[in-house]
Amino acid sequence: MRWIAPLVFVAASFATAAYAAPLPFDPDEATRAWLATMGPEATERSNRYFEGGYWIGFANAGITIVLSMALMMLGWARGVRSWLEKTVKFYFLVVFGMAVFYTSVTSILSFPFTYYVGFMREHEFGLATQTFPEWFVEFMISFAINLVISAIFISVLYLVVRAAKRTWWIWGSMVTVAFIAALVALVPVYISPLFNTYTPMEQGELRDDILHMAQASGVPADNVYVFDVSRQSNRVTANVSGFLGTTRISLSDTLLDRASTDGVREVMGHEIGHYVLHHTNSLLVMLGLLITVVFALTPALFNWLAKGERWGVRDIADPAGMPLVFAVITLLFTVATPINNNIIRYHEHQADIFGLNASRAPDGFAETALLLSEYRKMEPSPLELWFFYDHPSGYQRIHMAMEWKAHEMAAGRYPMGPGGPPQGWRPDFVVVEDEAGAAPSAPATEPSPGGASD
Ligand SMILES: [Zn+2]
Repeated sequence: MRWIAPLVFVAASFATAAYAAPLPFDPDEATRAWLATMGPEATERSNRYFEGGYWIGFANAGITIVLSMALMMLGWARGVRSWLEKTVKFYFLVVFGMAVFYTSVTSILSFPFTYYVGFMREHEFGLATQTFPEWFVEFMISFAINLVISAIFISVLYLVVRAAKRTWWIWGSMVTVAFIAALVALVPVYISPLFNTYTPMEQGELRDDILHMAQASGVPADNVYVFDVSRQSNRVTANVSGFLGTTRISLSDTLLDRASTDGVREVMGHEIGHYVLHHTNSLLVMLGLLITVVFALTPALFNWLAKGERWGVRDIADPAGMPLVFAVITLLFTVATPINNNIIRYHEHQADIFGLNASRAPDGFAETALLLSEYRKMEPSPLELWFFYDHPSGYQRIHMAMEWKAHEMAAGRYPMGPGGPPQGWRPDFVVVEDEAGAAPSAPATEPSPGGASD
């Protein structure tokens, strides 16, 4: 029984030592006070917007699966493949042509839904700032870029599938991760500037403050860029990206306009955290494992569905089965939604606490959590949080900031003051609405894994 003692020791070290040091204010109450600044109307609207997003996610997957299966059942996939085999002959070109066909047809047929989600709904909730022509031009540019990148990626993946046969899921996952890594490196440099203009941030205290915070944490950046997100929406966002020594810190003009100095500092502390903690690498590893599992499960499901050359598909390397392959992969990734979200949320939580410690701006953190609440439900149920959230909830973030503030005050490292928001403080979208009776503003794009935004 000698093994029991070390086990007890290990178990004990997991127990939290809840010692009751007196705090200058109650973090729970302070969190409630911050949340109350939204008021019931804005809270209801934020919940409605965010919960709608759950269904949009499922609908998106559903549309992809239905359209893909239609291409199989109507015989279009087989027809296009046979025609390509007669005309371009080379396997790589057949796959490339099939990928262009598949990506185009599904994008065009799902356009009404894309329009509703990307344009109409954003305007309904007062989050978008673009006219339809502006939005449509950007949609077309993204469509073209997406078409080229997808076609190249799919073609390379099919070469791997054909060459490796039964072990393709291992090599295919590696190729996919390498592809994502390349995108993470290249998108900020070559693609993002197509949609937004990046200009050096005005010289001043805030810029110096951000650079000091970055360099204090070992980020080799010597410039801060501002990009005009306001062109598309009111959402606040920022990132730290790096490629071959071109490390750069970028923040949105909306963040500068809408947040206080401490709010901006806290967001930048969070982004610096993503960079310093090498989140791009760990996300690639963890999401890479998830991709490997999905790819490993794909052949069984594919072979079962396409049994006996149904729909004229010879095997999984046959481009005629491409829509079926992507229907299966879409289904598997939808089932894996919570795993994907928990991996990302784990990193976001780390960046949050890093940002808090780097900026020492708990009220700035609470303030920006409230700005994000314009389009993120603040208090989800535990199940919702687990399934749908790729960031900690607003409630969790503000509570974390208030715990931090209370303990730092108790330790004498933060000036004494009230726990909750400054007297009379309210998020700008609530103030605007009350004063003008106008619709509120709000959401922005959220680059996640690589770009590491908010
Ligand atoms: Zn983040």
